[in-house]
Amino acid sequence: MKILLTNAIVVTMDPETGDLADGQVLVEDDRILQVGQDLPSEGAEVVDCRGGILIPGLVNAHMHTWQTALRGVAANWTLLEYFGHVHRGLATLFSPDDIYIATRMGALNQLNCGTTTLGDWCHNNPTPDHTDAAIRGLKESGIRALFFHGSPKPDPKPGQPHFSEIPHPRSEVERLLAGSLSDREGRVTLGLAILGPHYSTLDVSLHDFELAKEFGLVASMHQGGGEAVSPGGWDVIEDQGLLGPDINIVHGQSLDDSQLARFCAKGVTFSIAPENEMTQGHGFPITGHVRRHGGVVSLGVDLESVISGDMFCVARMALGMQRALDNDASRREQGSIPDTSTIRTREALQWITVDGARALGLEDRIGSLTPGKQADIVLLDSGRLNMQPVNDPVSTVVMQASLANVDSVMVAGEFHKRHGKLLGGVEEGINHLAVSGHRINAELQSRQKKEGASQ
Ligand SMILES: [Zn+2]
Repeated sequence: MKILLTNAIVVTMDPETGDLADGQVLVEDDRILQVGQDLPSEGAEVVDCRGGILIPGLVNAHMHTWQTALRGVAANWTLLEYFGHVHRGLATLFSPDDIYIATRMGALNQLNCGTTTLGDWCHNNPTPDHTDAAIRGLKESGIRALFFHGSPKPDPKPGQPHFSEIPHPRSEVERLLAGSLSDREGRVTLGLAILGPHYSTLDVSLHDFELAKEFGLVASMHQGGGEAVSPGGWDVIEDQGLLGPDINIVHGQSLDDSQLARFCAKGVTFSIAPENEMTQGHGFPITGHVRRHGGVVSLGVDLESVISGDMFCVARMALGMQRALDNDASRREQGSIPDTSTIRTREALQWITVDGARALGLEDRIGSLTPGKQADIVLLDSGRLNMQPVNDPVSTVVMQASLANVDSVMVAGEFHKRHGKLLGGVEEGINHLAVSGHRINAELQSRQKKEGASQ
Protein backbone atom coordinates (compact mmCIF):
# COMPACT_ATOMS: atom_id res chain seq x y z
CA MET A 1 0.00 0.00 0.00
CA LYS A 2 1.52 3.30 -1.13
CA ILE A 3 0.47 6.89 -0.44
CA LEU A 4 2.01 9.85 -2.28
CA LEU A 5 1.70 13.14 -0.42
CA THR A 6 2.23 15.83 -3.03
CA ASN A 7 2.29 19.60 -3.69
CA ALA A 8 3.38 20.57 -0.17
CA ILE A 9 6.07 22.59 1.48
CA VAL A 10 8.06 19.80 3.15
CA VAL A 11 9.99 20.54 6.35
CA THR A 12 11.87 17.27 6.79
CA MET A 13 14.04 18.12 9.84
CA ASP A 14 16.58 15.86 8.15
CA PRO A 15 19.77 17.89 7.69
CA GLU A 16 20.61 16.13 4.42
CA THR A 17 17.26 16.82 2.74
CA GLY A 18 16.39 20.15 4.38
CA ASP A 19 13.19 21.92 3.33
CA LEU A 20 11.46 21.51 -0.03
CA ALA A 21 9.39 24.41 -1.37
CA ASP A 22 7.27 22.08 -3.50
CA GLY A 23 7.90 18.53 -2.43
CA GLN A 24 6.50 15.06 -2.11
CA VAL A 25 6.66 12.24 0.41
CA LEU A 26 6.09 8.67 -0.75
CA VAL A 27 4.90 6.28 1.94
CA GLU A 28 4.87 2.51 1.62
CA ASP A 29 3.04 0.59 4.32
CA ASP A 30 4.35 1.92 7.64
CA ARG A 31 7.51 3.61 6.29
CA ILE A 32 8.70 6.63 4.37
CA LEU A 33 10.03 5.33 1.06
CA GLN A 34 11.20 8.56 -0.61
CA VAL A 35 11.21 12.32 -0.06
CA GLY A 36 11.76 14.65 -3.00
CA GLN A 37 10.15 15.78 -6.24
CA ASP A 38 8.70 13.92 -9.24
CA LEU A 39 8.39 10.73 -7.24
CA PRO A 40 6.69 7.73 -8.89
CA SER A 41 2.92 7.70 -8.35
CA GLU A 42 2.19 4.26 -9.86
CA GLY A 43 0.06 2.19 -7.54
CA ALA A 44 -0.10 4.95 -4.95
CA GLU A 45 -3.07 6.82 -3.50
CA VAL A 46 -2.23 10.43 -4.33
CA VAL A 47 -3.07 12.98 -1.62
CA ASP A 48 -2.96 16.57 -2.84
CA CYS A 49 -1.53 18.70 -0.02
CA ARG A 50 -1.67 22.01 -1.93
CA GLY A 51 -1.56 24.94 0.50
CA GLY A 52 -0.07 22.81 3.23
CA ILE A 53 3.14 22.16 5.09
CA LEU A 54 4.27 18.61 5.87
CA ILE A 55 6.27 18.18 9.05
CA PRO A 56 7.38 15.16 11.08
CA GLY A 57 4.81 14.12 13.69
CA LEU A 58 5.48 15.94 16.95
CA VAL A 59 6.95 14.21 19.99
CA ASN A 60 5.55 15.00 23.43
CA ALA A 61 8.32 13.49 25.52
CA HIS A 62 6.71 13.79 28.94
CA MET A 63 3.07 13.69 29.96
CA HIS A 64 1.04 12.07 32.72
CA THR A 65 -1.82 11.16 30.41
CA TRP A 66 -3.86 9.60 33.21
CA GLN A 67 -4.62 13.14 34.43
CA THR A 68 -6.69 14.09 31.37
CA ALA A 69 -9.93 13.79 33.38
CA LEU A 70 -8.49 16.30 35.88
CA ARG A 71 -8.27 19.17 33.37
CA GLY A 72 -8.45 22.52 35.12
CA VAL A 73 -8.28 20.99 38.60
CA ALA A 74 -4.65 21.87 39.34
CA ALA A 75 -4.41 25.09 37.32
CA ASN A 76 -4.08 27.27 40.43
CA TRP A 77 -1.91 24.93 42.48
CA THR A 78 1.78 25.10 43.15
CA LEU A 79 3.82 21.90 43.04
CA LEU A 80 3.35 21.42 46.79
CA GLU A 81 -0.42 21.73 46.54
CA TYR A 82 -0.36 19.44 43.51
CA PHE A 83 1.49 16.70 45.42
CA GLY A 84 -1.01 16.89 48.26
CA HIS A 85 -4.24 17.16 46.32
CA VAL A 86 -3.41 15.01 43.30
CA HIS A 87 -0.96 12.30 44.40
CA ARG A 88 -2.21 11.86 47.93
CA GLY A 89 -5.85 12.60 47.07
CA LEU A 90 -7.36 12.42 43.59
CA ALA A 91 -4.96 9.77 42.28
CA THR A 92 -6.09 7.29 44.92
CA LEU A 93 -9.66 7.44 43.58
CA PHE A 94 -8.87 6.25 40.04
CA SER A 95 -10.28 2.90 38.98
CA PRO A 96 -8.72 1.06 36.03
CA ASP A 97 -11.59 2.36 33.89
CA ASP A 98 -10.74 5.96 34.88
CA ILE A 99 -7.13 5.37 33.84
CA TYR A 100 -8.27 3.80 30.57
CA ILE A 101 -10.56 6.60 29.45
CA ALA A 102 -8.20 9.39 30.53
CA THR A 103 -5.29 7.77 28.71
CA ARG A 104 -7.26 7.01 25.55
CA MET A 105 -8.79 10.49 25.31
CA GLY A 106 -5.55 12.23 26.28
CA ALA A 107 -3.72 10.32 23.57
CA LEU A 108 -6.44 11.13 21.03
CA ASN A 109 -6.11 14.80 21.93
CA GLN A 110 -2.39 14.52 21.28
CA LEU A 111 -3.03 13.04 17.83
CA ASN A 112 -5.57 15.78 17.16
CA CYS A 113 -2.94 18.41 18.07
CA GLY A 114 -0.29 16.88 15.77
CA THR A 115 1.62 14.75 18.27
CA THR A 116 2.29 11.29 16.90
CA THR A 117 4.59 10.03 19.69
CA LEU A 118 3.90 10.33 23.37
CA GLY A 119 6.15 9.67 26.34
CA ASP A 120 3.32 8.58 28.64
CA TRP A 121 4.71 8.79 32.18
CA CYS A 122 2.12 6.70 33.97
CA HIS A 123 2.59 6.79 37.72
CA ASN A 124 -0.84 5.87 38.95
CA ASN A 125 -0.50 2.09 38.76
CA PRO A 126 -1.54 0.71 42.15
CA THR A 127 -2.58 -2.59 40.51
CA PRO A 128 -1.69 -4.46 37.30
CA ASP A 129 -5.28 -3.77 36.15
CA HIS A 130 -4.57 -0.03 36.21
CA THR A 131 -1.42 -0.58 34.16
CA ASP A 132 -3.20 -2.76 31.62
CA ALA A 133 -6.02 -0.21 31.32
CA ALA A 134 -3.52 2.56 30.48
CA ILE A 135 -1.82 0.42 27.84
CA ARG A 136 -5.19 -0.50 26.33
CA GLY A 137 -6.09 3.20 26.16
CA LEU A 138 -2.84 4.02 24.36
CA LYS A 139 -3.20 1.13 21.92
CA GLU A 140 -6.81 1.93 21.07
CA SER A 141 -5.95 5.58 20.39
CA GLY A 142 -3.48 4.59 17.67
CA ILE A 143 -0.72 6.89 18.92
CA ARG A 144 2.90 5.79 19.08
CA ALA A 145 3.98 5.76 22.70
CA LEU A 146 6.71 4.90 25.08
CA PHE A 147 4.72 3.73 28.07
CA PHE A 148 6.79 4.71 31.09
CA HIS A 149 5.59 2.33 33.78
CA GLY A 150 5.71 4.00 37.20
CA SER A 151 4.42 3.67 40.72
CA PRO A 152 1.83 5.64 42.73
CA LYS A 153 2.70 8.12 45.47
CA PRO A 154 -0.03 7.87 48.13
CA ASP A 155 0.47 8.48 51.84
CA PRO A 156 1.60 5.14 53.32
CA LYS A 157 -1.01 3.22 55.30
CA PRO A 158 0.02 2.21 58.87
CA GLY A 159 2.74 -0.43 58.72
CA GLN A 160 3.47 0.12 55.02
CA PRO A 161 6.71 1.62 53.65
CA HIS A 162 6.83 5.10 52.12
CA PHE A 163 6.84 5.04 48.30
CA SER A 164 10.46 6.25 48.27
CA GLU A 165 11.48 2.93 49.89
CA ILE A 166 9.76 0.66 47.37
CA PRO A 167 11.89 -0.70 44.50
CA HIS A 168 10.35 -0.76 41.04
CA PRO A 169 8.48 -4.06 40.72
CA ARG A 170 10.52 -6.43 38.57
CA SER A 171 7.53 -8.76 38.24
CA GLU A 172 5.54 -6.06 36.44
CA VAL A 173 8.40 -5.35 34.04
CA GLU A 174 8.68 -9.04 33.23
CA ARG A 175 4.92 -9.41 32.90
CA LEU A 176 4.61 -6.49 30.45
CA LEU A 177 7.61 -7.55 28.37
CA ALA A 178 6.22 -11.07 28.10
CA GLY A 179 2.69 -9.83 27.41
CA SER A 180 1.12 -6.67 26.04
CA LEU A 181 4.45 -4.88 25.36
CA SER A 182 6.44 -7.86 24.10
CA ASP A 183 6.95 -6.39 20.63
CA ARG A 184 10.02 -4.18 21.10
CA GLU A 185 9.39 -2.71 17.61
CA GLY A 186 5.68 -2.20 18.27
CA ARG A 187 3.74 1.04 18.32
CA VAL A 188 3.55 1.02 22.13
CA THR A 189 6.71 -0.02 23.93
CA LEU A 190 7.94 -0.03 27.52
CA GLY A 191 10.10 2.42 29.45
CA LEU A 192 10.56 2.76 33.20
CA ALA A 193 9.22 5.75 35.13
CA ILE A 194 11.50 5.44 38.12
CA LEU A 195 11.77 7.61 41.23
CA GLY A 196 15.48 8.39 40.90
CA PRO A 197 17.64 9.85 43.68
CA HIS A 198 15.42 12.87 44.18
CA TYR A 199 12.37 10.81 45.11
CA SER A 200 13.76 7.52 46.46
CA THR A 201 16.40 6.08 48.74
CA LEU A 202 19.78 5.38 47.21
CA ASP A 203 19.21 1.62 47.42
CA VAL A 204 15.96 1.94 45.52
CA SER A 205 17.55 4.26 42.94
CA LEU A 206 20.42 1.88 42.28
CA HIS A 207 18.02 -1.07 42.04
CA ASP A 208 15.83 0.77 39.54
CA PHE A 209 18.73 2.00 37.36
CA GLU A 210 20.09 -1.57 37.24
CA LEU A 211 16.65 -2.97 36.45
CA ALA A 212 16.23 -0.65 33.45
CA LYS A 213 19.73 -1.47 32.25
CA GLU A 214 19.17 -5.22 32.57
CA PHE A 215 16.10 -5.06 30.33
CA GLY A 216 17.50 -2.44 27.93
CA LEU A 217 14.79 0.11 28.76
CA VAL A 218 14.87 3.91 28.88
CA ALA A 219 14.69 5.02 32.52
CA SER A 220 13.06 8.40 33.12
CA MET A 221 12.81 10.25 36.42
CA HIS A 222 11.75 13.60 37.84
CA GLN A 223 14.53 15.72 39.30
CA GLY A 224 13.70 18.74 41.42
CA GLY A 225 10.86 20.19 43.45
CA GLY A 226 11.55 20.22 47.18
CA GLU A 227 14.22 18.38 49.14
CA ALA A 228 16.00 15.35 47.63
CA VAL A 229 15.41 12.02 49.38
CA SER A 230 19.01 10.98 48.55
CA PRO A 231 21.25 14.04 48.49
CA GLY A 232 24.50 13.01 46.80
CA GLY A 233 22.76 10.06 45.18
CA TRP A 234 23.65 11.21 41.67
CA ASP A 235 27.36 11.01 42.54
CA VAL A 236 27.05 7.33 43.42
CA ILE A 237 24.99 6.59 40.31
CA GLU A 238 27.52 8.42 38.18
CA ASP A 239 30.48 6.63 39.82
CA GLN A 240 28.85 3.30 39.11
CA GLY A 241 28.73 4.07 35.38
CA LEU A 242 24.94 4.07 35.20
CA LEU A 243 24.54 7.25 33.13
CA GLY A 244 24.04 7.23 29.35
CA PRO A 245 21.58 7.96 26.54
CA ASP A 246 19.01 5.61 28.09
CA ILE A 247 18.68 7.91 31.10
CA ASN A 248 16.10 10.69 30.84
CA ILE A 249 15.83 13.47 33.41
CA VAL A 250 12.63 15.48 33.70
CA HIS A 251 12.86 19.15 34.83
CA GLY A 252 16.40 19.05 36.35
CA GLN A 253 16.55 22.48 38.05
CA SER A 254 18.35 21.15 41.12
CA LEU A 255 21.35 19.76 39.23
CA ASP A 256 24.43 21.99 39.39
CA ASP A 257 26.19 23.20 36.27
CA SER A 258 29.13 20.79 36.44
CA GLN A 259 26.75 17.87 36.89
CA LEU A 260 24.75 19.06 33.90
CA ALA A 261 27.91 19.31 31.79
CA ARG A 262 28.98 15.77 32.68
CA PHE A 263 25.50 14.31 32.25
CA CYS A 264 25.11 15.94 28.82
CA ALA A 265 28.54 14.65 27.79
CA LYS A 266 27.43 11.14 28.73
CA GLY A 267 24.34 11.46 26.53
CA VAL A 268 21.75 11.75 29.29
CA THR A 269 18.64 13.38 27.79
CA PHE A 270 16.43 16.05 29.34
CA SER A 271 12.69 16.58 29.14
CA ILE A 272 11.61 20.08 30.00
CA ALA A 273 8.01 21.10 30.64
CA PRO A 274 8.39 24.88 30.34
CA GLU A 275 4.87 26.13 30.97
CA ASN A 276 4.19 23.76 33.82
CA GLU A 277 7.57 24.40 35.44
CA MET A 278 6.98 28.15 35.35
CA THR A 279 3.46 27.73 36.73
CA GLN A 280 4.06 25.23 39.52
CA GLY A 281 7.25 26.66 40.97
CA HIS A 282 10.04 24.41 39.70
CA GLY A 283 12.15 27.44 38.81
CA PHE A 284 13.18 28.62 35.38
CA PRO A 285 13.36 25.89 32.71
CA ILE A 286 16.95 24.69 32.20
CA THR A 287 16.69 24.72 28.39
CA GLY A 288 19.60 27.17 28.02
CA HIS A 289 21.93 25.24 30.33
CA VAL A 290 21.32 21.92 28.56
CA ARG A 291 21.84 23.40 25.08
CA ARG A 292 24.98 25.24 26.27
CA HIS A 293 26.41 21.83 27.25
CA GLY A 294 25.37 20.27 23.94
CA GLY A 295 22.71 18.09 25.57
CA VAL A 296 19.41 16.84 24.23
CA VAL A 297 16.45 19.15 24.93
CA SER A 298 13.10 17.44 24.56
CA LEU A 299 9.83 18.99 25.65
CA GLY A 300 6.62 17.83 27.25
CA VAL A 301 3.19 18.99 28.32
CA ASP A 302 3.60 17.22 31.67
CA LEU A 303 0.16 17.88 33.14
CA GLU A 304 -3.16 18.45 31.43
CA SER A 305 -4.55 18.97 34.92
CA VAL A 306 -2.68 22.30 34.67
CA ILE A 307 -2.17 23.33 31.01
CA SER A 308 -3.24 22.51 27.45
CA GLY A 309 -1.92 19.53 25.49
CA ASP A 310 -0.78 21.55 22.46
CA MET A 311 2.91 20.93 21.69
CA PHE A 312 3.18 23.99 19.41
CA CYS A 313 2.36 26.04 22.49
CA VAL A 314 4.91 24.12 24.58
CA ALA A 315 7.64 24.79 22.00
CA ARG A 316 6.82 28.51 21.90
CA MET A 317 6.87 28.66 25.69
CA ALA A 318 10.31 27.04 25.84
CA LEU A 319 11.66 29.28 23.08
CA GLY A 320 10.18 32.50 24.47
CA MET A 321 11.26 31.78 28.03
CA GLN A 322 14.85 30.98 27.05
CA ARG A 323 15.11 33.97 24.73
CA ALA A 324 13.87 36.14 27.60
CA LEU A 325 16.53 34.75 29.94
CA ASP A 326 19.26 35.17 27.31
CA ASN A 327 18.16 38.69 26.43
CA ASP A 328 18.01 39.65 30.08
CA ALA A 329 21.50 38.24 30.71
CA SER A 330 22.85 40.20 27.75
CA ARG A 331 21.26 43.42 28.99
CA ARG A 332 22.79 42.90 32.41
CA GLU A 333 26.22 41.76 31.23
CA GLN A 334 26.73 43.92 28.14
CA GLY A 335 24.19 46.68 28.66
CA SER A 336 22.37 45.82 25.43
CA ILE A 337 20.19 43.19 23.86
CA PRO A 338 22.04 40.56 21.77
CA ASP A 339 22.80 41.31 18.11
CA THR A 340 20.50 38.48 17.07
CA SER A 341 18.20 35.93 18.62
CA THR A 342 20.07 33.38 20.71
CA ILE A 343 17.86 30.51 19.51
CA ARG A 344 16.42 30.05 16.02
CA THR A 345 12.89 28.78 15.48
CA ARG A 346 14.26 25.67 13.72
CA GLU A 347 15.86 24.57 16.97
CA ALA A 348 12.51 24.83 18.74
CA LEU A 349 10.98 22.57 16.09
CA GLN A 350 13.89 20.18 16.59
CA TRP A 351 13.08 19.95 20.32
CA ILE A 352 9.59 18.62 19.55
CA THR A 353 10.62 16.30 16.72
CA VAL A 354 14.17 14.95 16.39
CA ASP A 355 15.26 15.57 19.98
CA GLY A 356 12.01 14.23 21.40
CA ALA A 357 12.71 11.05 19.46
CA ARG A 358 16.23 10.91 20.92
CA ALA A 359 14.93 11.31 24.47
CA LEU A 360 12.63 8.33 23.98
CA GLY A 361 15.33 6.21 22.32
CA LEU A 362 13.40 6.24 19.04
CA GLU A 363 15.67 8.40 16.86
CA ASP A 364 16.28 5.55 14.40
CA ARG A 365 12.56 5.21 13.78
CA ILE A 366 10.93 8.65 14.04
CA GLY A 367 11.55 12.41 14.42
CA SER A 368 12.29 13.41 10.82
CA LEU A 369 10.92 12.79 7.33
CA THR A 370 13.73 10.46 6.32
CA PRO A 371 13.43 7.45 3.99
CA GLY A 372 13.36 4.27 6.05
CA LYS A 373 11.85 5.90 9.11
CA GLN A 374 8.27 5.31 10.20
CA ALA A 375 5.70 7.36 8.32
CA ASP A 376 4.64 9.62 11.21
CA ILE A 377 3.61 12.77 9.37
CA VAL A 378 1.51 15.87 10.01
CA LEU A 379 -0.07 18.05 7.34
CA LEU A 380 -0.67 21.62 8.44
CA ASP A 381 -3.23 23.67 6.55
CA SER A 382 -1.21 26.82 6.07
CA GLY A 383 -3.78 28.45 3.79
CA ARG A 384 -5.68 29.78 6.76
CA LEU A 385 -5.95 33.31 8.09
CA ASN A 386 -3.50 32.70 10.94
CA MET A 387 -0.63 31.37 8.79
CA GLN A 388 -0.60 33.26 5.47
CA PRO A 389 1.64 34.35 3.91
CA VAL A 390 4.21 31.62 4.54
CA ASN A 391 7.43 33.59 4.17
CA ASP A 392 9.54 31.26 6.31
CA PRO A 393 7.92 27.82 6.70
CA VAL A 394 9.76 26.78 9.87
CA SER A 395 9.03 30.06 11.65
CA THR A 396 5.41 29.92 10.51
CA VAL A 397 5.10 26.40 11.95
CA VAL A 398 6.68 27.30 15.27
CA MET A 399 5.22 30.76 15.80
CA GLN A 400 1.81 30.65 14.10
CA ALA A 401 0.55 27.06 13.89
CA SER A 402 -2.04 25.70 16.29
CA LEU A 403 -4.54 22.88 16.56
CA ALA A 404 -6.71 24.77 14.07
CA ASN A 405 -4.10 24.11 11.37
CA VAL A 406 -3.60 20.37 12.01
CA ASP A 407 -5.36 19.01 8.94
CA SER A 408 -4.08 15.43 8.73
CA VAL A 409 -2.12 13.15 11.02
CA MET A 410 -0.50 9.88 9.98
CA VAL A 411 1.11 7.31 12.30
CA ALA A 412 3.03 4.41 10.73
CA GLY A 413 1.49 5.17 7.34
CA GLU A 414 -2.07 5.17 8.67
CA PHE A 415 -4.21 8.30 8.76
CA HIS A 416 -5.78 9.08 12.14
CA LYS A 417 -6.98 12.55 11.19
CA ARG A 418 -8.11 13.85 7.79
CA HIS A 419 -9.51 17.22 6.73
CA GLY A 420 -9.30 18.53 10.30
CA LYS A 421 -11.22 15.67 11.93
CA LEU A 422 -10.10 12.64 13.91
CA LEU A 423 -11.21 9.44 12.22
CA GLY A 424 -13.31 7.19 14.41
CA GLY A 425 -15.36 9.69 16.42
CA VAL A 426 -14.79 10.93 19.93
CA GLU A 427 -18.21 12.01 21.33
CA GLU A 428 -18.85 8.85 23.34
CA GLY A 429 -15.33 8.98 24.76
CA ILE A 430 -15.69 12.64 25.74
CA ASN A 431 -18.85 11.81 27.72
CA HIS A 432 -17.11 8.87 29.40
CA LEU A 433 -14.16 11.12 30.31
CA ALA A 434 -16.47 13.81 31.74
CA VAL A 435 -18.35 11.29 33.90
CA SER A 436 -15.02 9.92 35.16
CA GLY A 437 -13.58 13.36 35.99
CA HIS A 438 -16.73 14.62 37.75
CA ARG A 439 -17.02 11.42 39.80
CA ILE A 440 -13.39 11.54 40.96
CA ASN A 441 -13.68 15.18 42.02
CA ALA A 442 -17.01 14.59 43.80
CA GLU A 443 -15.56 11.60 45.66
CA LEU A 444 -12.59 13.59 46.88
CA GLN A 445 -14.84 16.38 48.11
CA SER A 446 -17.12 14.01 50.00
CA ARG A 447 -14.09 12.25 51.51
CA GLN A 448 -12.65 15.60 52.65
CA LYS A 449 -16.03 16.56 54.15
CA LYS A 450 -16.15 13.30 56.10
CA GLU A 451 -12.59 13.78 57.33
CA GLY A 452 -13.41 17.37 58.31
CA ALA A 453 -16.51 16.24 60.22
CA SER A 454 -14.59 13.55 62.11
CA GLN A 455 -11.89 15.97 63.27
ZN1 LIG B 1 6.04 15.03 35.26
